[in-house]
Amino acid sequence: MLAFIRFVKFFMVMQGKKGLVMGMANKFSIAFGISEALKNRGAELIFTAQNEYFQNKISDMARDFGGHDVVLCDVSKDGEIEQAFDKILNTVGALDFIVHSIAFSDKNELIGKYYNTTRANFLNAMNISCYSFTEVCKFAPKLMPNGGSLVTMTYYGSEKVVPNYNVMALAKSALETSVRYLADDLGEFGIRVNAISAGPIKTLAASGVGEFSKVLAYDRNRSPLKRNVTLEDIGNACAFLLSDLSSGVTGEIVHVDCGCNTIGVKF
Ligand code: NAD
Repeated sequence: MLAFIRFVKFFMVMQGKKGLVMGMANKFSIAFGISEALKNRGAELIFTAQNEYFQNKISDMARDFGGHDVVLCDVSKDGEIEQAFDKILNTVGALDFIVHSIAFSDKNELIGKYYNTTRANFLNAMNISCYSFTEVCKFAPKLMPNGGSLVTMTYYGSEKVVPNYNVMALAKSALETSVRYLADDLGEFGIRVNAISAGPIKTLAASGVGEFSKVLAYDRNRSPLKRNVTLEDIGNACAFLLSDLSSGVTGEIVHVDCGCNTIGVKF
């Protein structure tokens, strides 16, 4: 019996925890994989969506995951993050964690030379993919008065050149640096801030990156695990970072990529 209780306690690491997931577009989204992993471990979830189209698209899934209405939040618009967070606070009360799984670039600029990036898309990509996480963190102490954990999503293109990733690579480099500064800012509130650097996975956002299937095949070949990463792999790692199992981990970029980032040359 004691062994069973220990097993349940170990597996249900999110039991009694409540959190917000930002960026679920459909069942192929990384945010969907994360939500499944969190729900399976006992978490209660609430969601935001960029607009009414996505709000309608995910409302049934959101109900399955937590029973709450999806809150609208276009992170590129002034005041929307704060408004959405106030609504969430009034609906479900204090949170224990937030998942930020949001990025955007004009897909016409995710092919070819990086130097063709326009100023407008540079600023928009930085705003949505990087700055929005800073703003989320600014309001985190209000939403998580008892401490908590935040996770955002990044990619290896921030560290090394990946064809066609272009402006998104710069946004991810800035996002990763912001994770370290935000972890330092929020440490005094008992709030941890980390990022997962996920291997390539076929999603709506990823389908906008030129020649993406070649990147998938390249990683499959060089990966020590001889496969691409799955939504479950990412969800499980995220559950660890949001749970008390990672209580001493903050300011980290955790690679969940089947080991691809560790490989220099592969024949
Ligand atoms: P996705 O298309 O399923 O999710 C992207 C989400 O961003 C969508 O829900 C979209 O509505 C949201 N979004 C875009 N602009 C927004 C705005 N203005 N306001 C609010 N939300 C907005 O794709 P995904 O691959 O699951 O992407 C999730 C995160 O994972 C992104 O940060 C992405 O860069 C990152 N990531 C993806 C991969 C991959 O290969 N798919 C790898 C590493 C990291």
